[in-house]
Amino acid sequence: MKTVKVHDKTFKTFILHEEVVAQVRRIAEQLNEDLKDTKPVFVCILNGSFMFAADLLKHIELPCEVSFVKMASYHGTNSGDVKELIGFNESLKNRHVVVIEDIVDTGKTLQTIVEKLTELGVASLKVAALLLKPGVYKKEYKVDYVGLEIPNDFIVGYGLDYDGLGRNLRDIYVYTEE
Ligand code: 5GP
Ligand code: MG
Repeated sequence: MKTVKVHDKTFKTFILHEEVVAQVRRIAEQLNEDLKDTKPVFVCILNGSFMFAADLLKHIELPCEVSFVKMASYHGTNSGDVKELIGFNESLKNRHVVVIEDIVDTGKTLQTIVEKLTELGVASLKVAALLLKPGVYKKEYKVDYVGLEIPNDFIVGYGLDYDGLGRNLRDIYVYTEE
């Protein structure tokens, strides 16, 4: 086990890079199969999903477009508010869209995204999330592709940050009290 300090907090290794990329590859293979004969648009939710998206797309064998959306949620202060910082492109109308999200926690972010894309009139919608916290997620939308289900702990690494730091870590780490 390896530990890493991010700001004032200690995190320990939780999912090694090799396990992460094996799951990413599995999701890519399912997408290749499920979306064959389509020309999908992958919509990466910034910032957290940049590493997942980069690894996933290397294994996508379909002709596809890639675009980016940036959301900011304000948990704590104004819970439930999710703001668009970089918005959706209107040209998603009638397209097969695959949302690439790092982690689904309460699902508020995802719900906002799903509602917005439905409004834009996409032809079909799939959501791929690297991680899901089933103990917390109680929304109706069933996440189509999930890398790994994890307990309700705070994690960093592989794109995910703690207060801005930790996104560059190769493995995924979990917060530890010790
Ligand atoms: P939700 O809207 O589902 O509650 O939260 C989703 C967003 O919160 C994720 O896209 C991610 O940015 C952040 N988040 C949720 N859980 C974690 C976590 O364990 N670690 C980190 N670094 N971010 C998280
Ligand atoms: Mg995120």
